[in-house]
Amino acid sequence: MAAVSRPEDPTAEVTDLLQLLIRNQCVNDGTVASGRETRSVDLLAGFLAGVGDHDVYEPQPGRQSLVVRMEGSDPTAPTLMLMGHTDVVPVNVDGWSRDPFGADVVDGFVWGRGAVDMLNLTASQAVAFRRLADSGFRPRGTLIYLAVADEEALGRWGAEWLLQHERDAVIDDYVLTETGGFQIPSPAGPRLSVVVGEKGTYWTKIRVKGTPGHGSQPYRTDNALVTAAEVVRRIAEYRPATQIHESWRRFVEGMHYDAETTEVLLSSDDLAGALVDLPTGVARHWHACTHTTFAPTVAHGGTKTNVIPDRVDLEVDIRTLPGQTGADAAALLRDALGDLADAVEIESNDDPATSSPVDTPLWDSLARTSARLCEGSALVPSLMVGGTDNRFFRRAGAVGYGFGLFSKRLPYEDFTTMFHGNDEKVDQESLALSTRLWEAVARDLVG
Ligand SMILES: [Zn+2]
Repeated sequence: MAAVSRPEDPTAEVTDLLQLLIRNQCVNDGTVASGRETRSVDLLAGFLAGVGDHDVYEPQPGRQSLVVRMEGSDPTAPTLMLMGHTDVVPVNVDGWSRDPFGADVVDGFVWGRGAVDMLNLTASQAVAFRRLADSGFRPRGTLIYLAVADEEALGRWGAEWLLQHERDAVIDDYVLTETGGFQIPSPAGPRLSVVVGEKGTYWTKIRVKGTPGHGSQPYRTDNALVTAAEVVRRIAEYRPATQIHESWRRFVEGMHYDAETTEVLLSSDDLAGALVDLPTGVARHWHACTHTTFAPTVAHGGTKTNVIPDRVDLEVDIRTLPGQTGADAAALLRDALGDLADAVEIESNDDPATSSPVDTPLWDSLARTSARLCEGSALVPSLMVGGTDNRFFRRAGAVGYGFGLFSKRLPYEDFTTMFHGNDEKVDQESLALSTRLWEAVARDLVG
């Protein structure tokens, strides 16, 4: 393809594409009939017309994913995939100050559902691809763009399906997707977090049994609700040991805190105590990065005011750390329940944590390219407490990181409250920075 000249500044182009993606309203409510990502696949395929080879996969009607492949000239060179999901979570319109699907631009911010999760990156990756192709870029290693469906409902009709059924189309050495790249201030300059791993889920149902009786005579009854209350209390008060993981250690070291703080943050004996004095948001996050967490979240039980209940069903959201097995989590839960462990029925679903190493060519490439775009910055690894499609690719053997690049106008605290929240918006400077980043990494790693 002959080189086509595009404006040096990608801001207008990436803003336009993001607005169109937001207006497509690919809302995923968890049902197979929702999402209808085909609309954004059509949009992106049109935007990338003439760039590489296109393949569209549709495991369910309307649930399309688009793969765009720029084949590398050297089969021994590494392959890199930029992956963005096209679906978004539902909104509660009452909580929004603007139309969540209007994609208004106000004071340099694009408003709308998906502005930070993650149509911003899906758009900037596509624009980077377009710009690379139009500049005549011929990669040595294969470069793949995946606009994927159904991320917001565990990837069943998206990443998981593609790896099960069309593995050759999407398998690669390196994957970049959400989330990371926020500027965290440190004494040594801004630190950009790279998500190198994601905690696992060990969602558990606990059935507490009792003996039915009349509510008018509670003396010496075996009340399942009373036992369930004790089960919930024990789980809520349980304090599993602190675990200092490689990603946590590298994060703390990279932040360049003073020696005393660093020592406390890396001490499995002292860290939990130190969290007490930190602001709640930071303390919650750091606690989750260094502990298996247990949150009782659902209780169903009882039928009538005058009936002693004989059954209560509880649900507990348990999150595991990289390296922990289902058996490890089960042992911790038994420890929490003590003598009640044998009195209840426990059923768990284990979806283990995933993580990629920090010392990789992809890390080095991100470090080089982001330092050029964000002066004085350096990378720090981080562990995500939720899940993304990256887990499927890590399990398939790829190195998967969550990254992007964000300006100082979008600090980490703002991002976390907007994620699946109200008034989601992203600044245009961040959109341009991410576009430049993807372009630079592609040239650096597979160029
Ligand atoms: Zn997302």
